[in-house]
Amino acid sequence: MIIVLSTDVTDKEIAHIVEKVKSLGLKPMVSKGAERTIIGVIGEEDVLRVQPLEIYPGVEKVMPVLKPYKLVSRDFKPENTVIDIRGVKIGGNKITVMAGPCSVEKKDLLIDIAKSVKKAGAEILRGGAFKPRTSPYSFQGLGEEGLKYLKEASDITGLLVVTELMDPRDLPLVEKYADIIQIGARNMQNFELLKEVGTSKKPILLKRGMAATIKDLLMSAEYILAKGNFNVMLCERGIRTFEDETRFTSDINAIPVIKSLSHLPVIMDPSHSTGKWGLVPPISKAAVAAGCDGLIIEVHSNPEEAFSDGVQSLLPENFAGLMKELKGVAKAVGRSI
Ligand code: PEP
Ligand code: MN
Repeated sequence: MIIVLSTDVTDKEIAHIVEKVKSLGLKPMVSKGAERTIIGVIGEEDVLRVQPLEIYPGVEKVMPVLKPYKLVSRDFKPENTVIDIRGVKIGGNKITVMAGPCSVEKKDLLIDIAKSVKKAGAEILRGGAFKPRTSPYSFQGLGEEGLKYLKEASDITGLLVVTELMDPRDLPLVEKYADIIQIGARNMQNFELLKEVGTSKKPILLKRGMAATIKDLLMSAEYILAKGNFNVMLCERGIRTFEDETRFTSDINAIPVIKSLSHLPVIMDPSHSTGKWGLVPPISKAAVAAGCDGLIIEVHSNPEEAFSDGVQSLLPENFAGLMKELKGVAKAVGRSI
């Protein structure tokens, strides 16, 4: 249920409506937009049939939400969510680029990659310290040591850090070092993990599961917002199809579709969606043209020796070249990068 308030509603009236909703055993979520304030109501809405909220001053209309997700929907918040992390704004006009190695490996290597991606225009450093590997015998990540390297690279370059969290028990640790917490494709429906990061103050990058529909992705994001964390980015990282020339299939459709259904920023990952470094530039350009708010790109200065995902990692010079080319594409669609 969504309560749309009148344009001249007072704070006192809003407080009264919020109290009333709470007294009915429901959870109100107030969203103050530039033009209108909306209250999303979560819980067993049947009580509202006997207790209509239209009678309260300040209420313009009460609308049922027909979609299964509420807080992530554009019905609840018509304007785009812009996440501001120490001045880096994600979801606004400027397209945000996150770049770095798949895994955090050696400290000096990470710092070198961080310097090169920063110079090329990236604003956020990516790198996994906890790696979700298909095989238990593959490199699993450096854990806290890797997080420390990320923090050091961030202190040197001024880049923000995005890194994956796999285990809810590691949340305090990852929060200590990261600016953005990544939930990987394989954990998109790990509901306990989603609830846990919903209580965090850190923004979340939620990656789409490889066999998840857009609706599944939005429902997973709803778990995080329902716990109070509204700073969520949705990441298209390729889905499984019958096509096997590429690692996954880049679902470019998902970008405008999610933008139409949700107010949350949409990030494209052309590295995992293609699995081939040569395909990263064209798919990055397609994603920018399709309206994404950001890109997350794997970059490695020695892809041949990378502990993971070397085949899909761009060399720093190729990343710098791509950043230049993306400027023109962004400009063509009224954005900057
Ligand atoms: C990653 O970003 O390195 C990663 C493991 O991504 P995904 O969860 O999309 O596979
Ligand atoms: Mn990877």
